[in-house]
Amino acid sequence: MTGPTAAANAGATRHRVVIIGAGFGGLFAARVLKNAPLSVTVIDRTNHHLFQPLLYQVATGILSEGDVAPPIRDVLRKYRNTEVLIGDVTTIDLERRTLNVVNLGEDLEVEYDSLIVAAGAGQSYFGHSDFSRWAPGMKSIDDALEIRGRIFGAFEMAERETDPAKRREWLTFVIVGGGPTGVEMAGQIAELSHRSLHRNFRHFDPATARVVLVDAGDALIPAFGKRLSGKALSGLHKLGVEVHLNSLVTNVDENGIDAKAPDGSTMHIEAQTKIWAAGVEASSLGKLLGDGSGAEVDRTGRVKVNPDLTLPGHPEVFLVGDMINLNKLPGVAEVAMQGGMHAARTIKHRVETGNPNLPAKAFHYRNLGDLATISRFQAVAHIGPIKVAGFVGWLLWMFVHLTFLTGFKNRVATVFNWFIAFVGRGRPQRTITRQQVLARSVLQQQDRQ
Ligand SMILES: Cc1cc2nc3c(=O)[nH]c(=O)nc-3n(C[C@H](O)[C@H](O)[C@H](O)COP(=O)(O)OP(=O)(O)OC[C@H]3O[C@@H](n4cnc5c(N)ncnc54)[C@H](O)[C@@H]3O)c2cc1C
Repeated sequence: MTGPTAAANAGATRHRVVIIGAGFGGLFAARVLKNAPLSVTVIDRTNHHLFQPLLYQVATGILSEGDVAPPIRDVLRKYRNTEVLIGDVTTIDLERRTLNVVNLGEDLEVEYDSLIVAAGAGQSYFGHSDFSRWAPGMKSIDDALEIRGRIFGAFEMAERETDPAKRREWLTFVIVGGGPTGVEMAGQIAELSHRSLHRNFRHFDPATARVVLVDAGDALIPAFGKRLSGKALSGLHKLGVEVHLNSLVTNVDENGIDAKAPDGSTMHIEAQTKIWAAGVEASSLGKLLGDGSGAEVDRTGRVKVNPDLTLPGHPEVFLVGDMINLNKLPGVAEVAMQGGMHAARTIKHRVETGNPNLPAKAFHYRNLGDLATISRFQAVAHIGPIKVAGFVGWLLWMFVHLTFLTGFKNRVATVFNWFIAFVGRGRPQRTITRQQVLARSVLQQQDRQ
């Protein structure tokens, strides 16, 4: 056992709960446990809780990274039984009930009595990880800032480019993936070029930018149903977005993308800026837990958990959120939040009754609805029997996102930035740096050496 945090955790006399991940699942679990007579350690590799649904607004200059990513320590500061450990969980020993955390180059071992694993998911390139070099995904603050750098950087390159064909390439933006993130990104880039950047350049008109959305399926946001999917398509068309459905992306390189239709015909689009919003893959901790317990892990890395969210054979280990495969539950924030609360309530109940083997109740998910924006004042919302599109959908979208955004200061800053971007025509967060765009490639190169 090394390190002060590990020593504190080992010396605790109370029941020790360790939560891996301070995303939606982890944070809502910690909230349930905050007044319980136990000691909680929340471990995350980043120092912030990330509100992923608004990441695309960081990428398109509407919000700052701080608006959507409050520090975990600050969010949990009033939870007196809870400590925060920043570090990467690398291994979990289910027999010894310990895990290893790499913290600023130091290896720590942390013990637990109950474990909640809420490590979420990363981007999947469906076996083509080489695409990531040219088409960053949208999963972290680093991703969003890199994409922001690429988008605004492309307009800068177009301004100094004299060859019309090359300028066209700089002014072409391809988004791969027609789910909510892809639709939101496409709508925002179109709005940026038509509205926000008006009169910002002298050698070209930003409104001539070409925004292309490509998806292998036959509908956008299929989970919203046919009517709302159609509304999203017509909304994007009105914004001038070119949508290619039934187009499977087969190659992404420096200069563009290739896609194939079901009839075998191919399409090539020359574009300097490509954004990947297509697939997800659960945290590698899922495979680790599958290997350690014998639990089944599906091809996207999600673990088949018991109906009560426990790991088969390990009633003291819970998995929640994007890492689970249970009853076809979708990878959305509500599933993670409700799962985190369910796991925490079970642990709390066991501790309060003094019966660590108390069987847990099955997890029942209440679907509170789906929302996606298309542009300012336009969104689609599917809440219970209600299906709305347009301004009413947008008001609902705004209300729900503000409600779930963590922290009063973040809500105020977000409303202020929305006011500038949606009522005015500005993009308040357009700062970009060369490092944001280049750092990932350099780090990847370093890792390979
Ligand atoms: C761009 C985007 C837009 C989205 N929009 C919506 C939306 O509009 N509505 C909706 O409901 N859902 C949306 N989602 C999905 C939603 O964000 C996820 O379903 C939700 O975040 C899952 O919560 P989670 O707790 O499982 O994981 P996350 O919220 O991803 O949290 C996982 C945490 O674990 C940490 N972590 C991971 N691995 C380790 C490790 N080895 N060691 C330490 N820490 C680790 C991560 O740093 C992270 O903080 C969106 C997702 C994305 C990416």
